Amino acid sequence: MSLNNSFKQRRSSVGVQVGSVTIGGNGAVVVQSMTNTDTVDTTATTAQIVQLARAGSELVRITVNSPEAAKSVPIIHQQLEQIGCHVPLVGDFHFNGHKLLTEYPDCAKALSKYRINPGNVGKGKKRDEQFATLIETACKYDKPVRIGVNWGSLDPSMLARIMDENANSNEPKDAGYVMREALISSALESAAKAEEIGLNRNKIVLSCKVSGVQDLIAVYRELAARCDYALHLGLTEAGMGSKGIVASTAALAILLQEGIGDTIRISLTPEPGGDRTREVIVAQEILQTMGLRAFVPLVASCPGCGRTTSTYFQELAESIQHYVREQMIVWREQHEGVENMSLAVMGCVVNGPGESKHANIGISLPGSGENPVAPVYVDGEKTVTLKGDNIAGEFRMIVDSYVQEKYPKKK
Ligand code: SF4
Repeated sequence: MSLNNSFKQRRSSVGVQVGSVTIGGNGAVVVQSMTNTDTVDTTATTAQIVQLARAGSELVRITVNSPEAAKSVPIIHQQLEQIGCHVPLVGDFHFNGHKLLTEYPDCAKALSKYRINPGNVGKGKKRDEQFATLIETACKYDKPVRIGVNWGSLDPSMLARIMDENANSNEPKDAGYVMREALISSALESAAKAEEIGLNRNKIVLSCKVSGVQDLIAVYRELAARCDYALHLGLTEAGMGSKGIVASTAALAILLQEGIGDTIRISLTPEPGGDRTREVIVAQEILQTMGLRAFVPLVASCPGCGRTTSTYFQELAESIQHYVREQMIVWREQHEGVENMSLAVMGCVVNGPGESKHANIGISLPGSGENPVAPVYVDGEKTVTLKGDNIAGEFRMIVDSYVQEKYPKKK
């Protein structure tokens, strides 16, 4: 897709190395996620990190909020190494990060990046000291830092200062502007301070998260115009289910299209007992449907209508998407480029053959009143017509053979 190059040229030229992953440096947009287990429960946290990494999360952030959590970090890191999961870990620190990172050096070493929030570093004189301690620790262990400002925990002294400046200006702006300016100033001034202390700019990632779509777009456009730091992009507190997905997509798609954002996280609230990997899948699907990256073969399917009254084709579309995602765990190691494969599962003859011909492999199922047969198209040519009770199984076998043949094993 020719548009991709123009996107990449406008991303941050500063590359931040986080373990084996580079954020920025005009590279691909990195997908990250965060656990919601108690970090002290090393078994559950390790298991969830593995799940997130297997789903495709390239960095995983964990909460480090207590001495017990800090002691657990090296244990989790060791457990991951033992099972061959090398995903870089990011520690999320608020309030007591300066203490935890200095008192638990094994924690500081095991993490690949620290996330700190300038609004939660401390108050008054202590704020500067504690901020300096965090940055000095990062310098000591050669770790990058995300300076992550969030409007839910904005430094009140910063907000008060910007409000005063605005009130005293010749043309005072509205409250929304003041809030956005306070967020951006907090991030930029903290980054400048971190550089003064000795942290190289290629060790700094910035974020300024808000929960409103238009505010996020305005904040990141301004932030990107005023600096070249690598940017972590995400709508904070996006919410549950379709609302969280739609709001995150609406905001991120506009910014990514403008070349803004070097790593993304989708902050979805899972349903009780829900699958945490959803946030990884949504992040990947935003990037893939925009043509920025490819992760997993995508399945095109029609919405269905009065021409297809059975649920068979919906079930097939779902089972095929599920199947390729599962298979990708093995395929990605063995078959170069398989993530670019496209599939189509269509409900009837109206658009079925046409859409199927555009995909690498497509199937047009019989709509109401049609012969109970399903023609399959491979690279635009009809190759076989399936019928009977095992159409799904036979279609999966066709997909498997195509992968073996078209995407040779990696050496
Ligand atoms: S392809 Fe057929 S079943 Fe699917 S939406 Fe179009 S007309 Fe309806």
